[in-house]
Amino acid sequence: MKDIDSGHILTLEAMLSAAGRIAIVTHMKPDGDALGSSTAMYHYLKAIGKDCRMILSDPNPSNLDFLIGEDSRKDLLIYEAYPLSAAAAIKDSDLIICLDFNAFHRTDTLEPFLSEARQPKILIDHHLSPDTEHFDLVFSETEVSSASELLYHILMHTGRIAHDASRLPSASAVSLMTGMITDTNNFANSVFPSTLRMASALLEAGTDRDMILQQLYNRFSESRLRLMGHMMKDLMKITDDGVAYIVLDKETQRNYHVKDGDTEGFVNMPLSIDRVVMSILLKEDNDRIRVSIRSKKGYSANACAKEHFNGGGHENASGGRLYIGKDVRDINEAPEYIERHTHTFMRRYNG
Ligand code: 5GP
Ligand code: MN
Repeated sequence: MKDIDSGHILTLEAMLSAAGRIAIVTHMKPDGDALGSSTAMYHYLKAIGKDCRMILSDPNPSNLDFLIGEDSRKDLLIYEAYPLSAAAAIKDSDLIICLDFNAFHRTDTLEPFLSEARQPKILIDHHLSPDTEHFDLVFSETEVSSASELLYHILMHTGRIAHDASRLPSASAVSLMTGMITDTNNFANSVFPSTLRMASALLEAGTDRDMILQQLYNRFSESRLRLMGHMMKDLMKITDDGVAYIVLDKETQRNYHVKDGDTEGFVNMPLSIDRVVMSILLKEDNDRIRVSIRSKKGYSANACAKEHFNGGGHENASGGRLYIGKDVRDINEAPEYIERHTHTFMRRYNG
């Protein structure tokens, strides 16, 4: 990663000290990095005496509940459950901090409130092409594992923490470590020298990685693992271009009692096959199909998501959606759509 700009840190500190009430916002369907960076920021702001709320468009997966302690639960507002108080928390704040997304539409139902908001906004993000014009201060860095890692380096540069990880609130340290572990798929992808420096400093400061791993990976339901077996054995298809895809329709999700976050990480698995260069998971939702794309080095998941799946993200890990009634008539048309569009896309690599 490039060096953190010390002028940006001074601006950040001035903006924080000028603000009484701060709103923290992250992307829809919050994952470990979204919730980890949000709760880490929250605990840091509480430690410096700020009144602070976290606003989510929809609930976090239950395996991330451990990031929300008893003390912070009252300050977490979910728009889907309490739209009025969630919207009010954004409106009534005098500073908005946006974490782990590059454009307002990634917050789904929160987008109109962010677009209308006139108060200063800060962006801390690791995605490609952020909408910088909507923010007063931008920390954007793609050569890091996660937004949590970027926030770690930012906090380390503040006067209060002064490059000593043991001065971070311990709940912030757990949250930052969790966000980094989930976005790297437990140190498998997007690990940079700076990522290992962060991990090392947090471990030295006493962060309990075993507890985090236990919470993240050893507390799922039996049906989730059985679903994984079914997906890899019966549902995965591989095209001649080396594109693996899995379509998870609503009926299968019902049969296996799928909850938010249950399929996290499954899209990576087909990449373990030698001839597979790109993996796509489609999950049927109400009026849309959610798309997750992962690719091997040299193949752009980001370009594929942008050009064919109404999305984007990182070079090798992206997402998007297909609209039912527009891109496809129903979920049964999804395989044909994927085969046709990925064949068009893969021609740029296959000549
Ligand atoms: P996931 O497959 O884990 O849902 O998402 C992978 C990456 O793609 C994440 O970094 C996420 O921010 C990005 N992403 C997921 N869905 C969308 C989308 O609809 N639009 C854009 N621009 N990015 C997305
Ligand atoms: Mn992230």
